[in-house]
Formats: sequence, structure tokens, C-alpha cells
Amino acid sequence: MEDFDIHNNITRDGEFEKALRPSYFDSFNGQEKIVENLKVFVQAAKLRGEPLDHLLLFGPPGLGKTTLAGIIANELGVNFKVTSGPVLDKPGDLAGILTGLEEHDVLFIDEIHRLSRVVEEYLYSAMEDYRIDIMIDKGPGARSVQLSLSPFTLIGATTRSGMLTAPMRARFGINCHLEYYSHEVLERIIRRSAALLQVKITPEAAHEIALRSRGTPRIANSLLRRVRDFAQVKGSGDIDPEIARFALEALNIDSHGLDEMDHKLLSTMIHKFGGGPVGISTIATAIGEEADTIEEVYEPFLIMEGFLRRTPRGREVTSLAYRHLRLNPPVSTSSLFD
Ligand code: ADP
Repeated sequence: MEDFDIHNNITRDGEFEKALRPSYFDSFNGQEKIVENLKVFVQAAKLRGEPLDHLLLFGPPGLGKTTLAGIIANELGVNFKVTSGPVLDKPGDLAGILTGLEEHDVLFIDEIHRLSRVVEEYLYSAMEDYRIDIMIDKGPGARSVQLSLSPFTLIGATTRSGMLTAPMRARFGINCHLEYYSHEVLERIIRRSAALLQVKITPEAAHEIALRSRGTPRIANSLLRRVRDFAQVKGSGDIDPEIARFALEALNIDSHGLDEMDHKLLSTMIHKFGGGPVGISTIATAIGEEADTIEEVYEPFLIMEGFLRRTPRGREVTSLAYRHLRLNPPVSTSSLFD
């Protein structure tokens, strides 16, 4: 059977994601500390009749950055405009969006670390003084005019905190670092999603899916959807632990939630590079994936789970990875002792 690629599959599940996206703080599971703080900031801004401070959300893909930004706009009772760093090519694109904002609206810029330098600098005055300069006319008659903007809140999201420039970072009043979710919270998210999809699922089956979701709600929802397919075609339509396990095996998701790409990454490092240390761009070339994608999507989870580590000389697999892949570690590496 064809291998299942969680990471590609999720992008095609856009409509499905929208339907399952919580709209209020109270339906957002997990990240308790962040949510508690955000509730206070939102309420304070509303009491004072001011826009919420600009806010920066960090964390790997699928952890709920867009969802949280949407909830904030909803709870503030304002419009929510969404764009992303790579889409905003020229300052003119940004000017168009900024001038369309109404009082206290939320502008969400995903992948804000990918803004071009000129657009980023253009954003500074908008964030600080709610003003922008725009050029009128071309050639000798060209002149710049200053426009006032409605006070607004910028919510930036980034998977790579290290890639953000210091001046950009300094302009955000609130910073939130989203963490991977525990199995218990993922289980709750899966049960909530199943209820919205009107599919019956036992707590054990929800737990089974949660274990293999890489700490990520987007993956949990995506796996639930695939398991539901199996339940409908091969079972009674309800999701019990047997059908969940059967589906997850068929999808090649192992007991730790590692998929084909994770396996390829770890086994390539072991078989071609003696387990490392090896540089990220070398790994990327060997497995035919972008170095950025490896760093943003695959590596953080593998590091958190202890399969991979970063060293000054490059990435290195750990003895846990050897054990997980049922391979023998080389006798003389330091990885033996981790
Ligand atoms: P990000 O912007 O960080 O990539 P998203 O906000 O797009 O992630 O979240 C992906 C999906 O996961 C959403 O469609 C939403 O349904 C679900 N999701 C994320 N976080 C939560 C949460 N805390 N509770 C319930 N569902 C969540």
C-alpha cells in the first residue's frame, strides 16, 4: 500500500481543519498557562477600550497558533485578517491590508520570519505609531504621504524563533511559546473532534491515536480522519481500539508516532553517515527534503523524544533511535552512553 505522509496530507485537509477549529478560549484544549494569560490580556484590553498589545506566537506547525489568533480576535469581537510572510512581497501589499483594518482588528501574519527585509521595516512604523508612508505618483512627481491607520493588533506566528530579527522581536509586547501537547490533552482534542464529526470513538481508541500524534493537534485530527475512513470501510463505522490500531498500522505510523519520513531520516543518518554528527544540509540532500522543513517539522519532535540531538558538529542519532529501529549502535560512539 502507498505510504501515508502525515505532513503532506494535512495540507489537503484544510476544510476539515476549519470545521474543527475551536472559536473560544474555553474550547481550546491545553497550553493552559498561555491561555490563562491571554484571557487576562484580552479582558484588560477590552476594559480599557484599547487594542491588544502585539503578540508573537512561537512553535512547530500544527500546535494551534492560527487557532489561538482566531480565538483572540473572536473574544475581542473584532475582525480577523490572515496573511503570511512569503505572500507579502512588496510594501504595497502590506499597505493595502493595513489600510483596510478597522479599529482594534487583529492582523495575523503566519511565518513572520519569512517577511522580506523591506516589508519588515515597513511594518515597524505601522506597529509602533499606526502610521505608514506611501508613495504617490511615479517619476519626478513622486512624493511620499503619511497615512494614519486604525489602531490594530498584529499577531505574528513563527516556527523558527531564532530566525526573527531582534528589532522585529522587540516590537511585540507579548510572547508565547507553544509546547507539544501531552497524550491526555490530545485524547481530549480527538474526542471533541470525533463528536463534531459525529463519529463514535471509545476512550481507548482516542488514546491509541493520541499516542501516535507527535504531540500535535493537527496530526491528531488528521489521523482521526484517516482512522474514520478505515472504520467506515472495514468496520462498523465506530472507532474502537482494534480498528484504530489496524488503521494506524496500515498507515505506517509506528508506536511513537514516527512516520515514513522520520524513519528515512534516522535510518539514512545511521546507514550513510554512521549515525552522525552530520550537517543538516547534507541530511537534506540525502533524503531529498528541504533543510528548512527538516528543521521546522521533523527535527523538533525527534529531539524532544530523544531520538536525535544537536551537537556543535551537526546532528547525531541517539542510542534510543538505534533501539527503536531495532539496529545495533556502533560500539565506539558516544551515542552508546546517552
Ligand atoms: P498552527 O497555526 O500552529 O500551524 P493551527 O492553529 O492551524 O496550527 O492548528 C491546526 C489544527 O489543530 C486546527 O485546525 C485545530 O482544529 C487543531 N487544534 C490546534 N490546537 C488545538 C487545541 N488546543 N484544541 C483543539 N484543537 C486544536
